[in-house]
Amino acid sequence: MSEPLLTPALESGGTAAHIELTERRVAHNYHPLPVVLSAAEGAWVTDVEGRRYLDCLASYSALNFGHGHPRLLAVAHEQLDRLTLTSRAFYNDQLGPFARDLAALTGKDLVLPMNSGAEGVETAIKVSRRWGYEVKGVPEDTASMVVMEGNFHGRTTTIISFSTDEVARRHYAPYTPGFRVVRYGDAAAIEDAIDETTVAVLLEPIQGEAGVIIPPDGYLREVRALCDRRNVLMVADEIQSGLARTGETFACDHEGVVPDVYILGKALAGGLYPLSAVAADHGVLDVITPGSHGSTFGGNPLAARIGREVVAMLRTGEFQERSTRLGAVMAQGLRSLVGQGVLAVRCRGLWAGVDVDPALVTGRELCEALLRRGVLAKNTHGSTIRLAPPLVATEDDVLLMVDAIRGAVADASSA
Ligand SMILES: *Cc1c(COP(=O)(O)O)cnc(C)c1O
Repeated sequence: MSEPLLTPALESGGTAAHIELTERRVAHNYHPLPVVLSAAEGAWVTDVEGRRYLDCLASYSALNFGHGHPRLLAVAHEQLDRLTLTSRAFYNDQLGPFARDLAALTGKDLVLPMNSGAEGVETAIKVSRRWGYEVKGVPEDTASMVVMEGNFHGRTTTIISFSTDEVARRHYAPYTPGFRVVRYGDAAAIEDAIDETTVAVLLEPIQGEAGVIIPPDGYLREVRALCDRRNVLMVADEIQSGLARTGETFACDHEGVVPDVYILGKALAGGLYPLSAVAADHGVLDVITPGSHGSTFGGNPLAARIGREVVAMLRTGEFQERSTRLGAVMAQGLRSLVGQGVLAVRCRGLWAGVDVDPALVTGRELCEALLRRGVLAKNTHGSTIRLAPPLVATEDDVLLMVDAIRGAVADASSA
């Protein structure tokens, strides 16, 4: 069966035609908002009709440094022309410098590069289990990990095995065993779930997909202390919360906590390219030996070059500072909406979860209303929307976002 690459309507750039073709030929694993994007710069994106929108999702924080950051584009272009992929069968001249700089940023001895976030999480699970058997001395084939209700760690069969989201899990059984789910924010529940088989506690320091859920003050410190006490690895999935999103390099920094294992992804290559990594000390990552784990694309020179530039940008502290400063503006604006159709807001840096009154509007309807007002945002469960503008946004951009939400909620209230 042949079909023209571009129908006349597509050539003329119509939104409806692009949506129709995408829905006809792409499996329906997403339900996108009805906007077709074709270009972007900084915090702003442009659709095929030439309309501009403020990007308040930033690809779930993958675009912390905005679309097409000139520093990242420059090194990517240069590296694209030089060398892009070698496989790890050979050394390349970019991986070492990237690993050195990322190790320094995390304060860890070693990094293990992968591609997607889910692969980073899978890597951390494998490393934790090996550490359990080979270092801690957990009985063969019994390793368990404590994980959190409401978690989001990716989409592989093992990862969805311990998801508590029925939509993400249903009909993908049989599930991978070895995970114990406890309530998020409750350190005592973690301690109760730990026994001699437990190798790690895996958590997001702030739960992103769940709606930017910030645990109680002191929780991460308690988790750190109990992991030390019980000889269990503390594994922090900082894929969405890390790399300046919350005003610190890592969300764990807010409590001065250093996990045993960091999992990083999303913004690690600035949203230009998929790149994830696990960072840990020798005592943990040395359990990985040649042939026991790997990835064809993991550690490729293009990803490593962009990732090294991201680390260099994070070292200046500029983006952490912007996140804190813009986040304060955002928080003040959003808090003024509470009681006016908004039930609650949770903010940390330039990252917010906003619960709207479900009697007024669903999260999806609110995002459709925001789209009409030139703001792109994404609902998560129920009537919660998540806001994560690129950290290169201006104060005016942030105020525009808050005004759009105020207007959209007011419209819903008077409807
Ligand atoms: C997005 C995300 C992942 C999965 O990353 P992918 O690149 O989509 O596989 C894992 N953990 C957290 C906390 C995330 O936000």
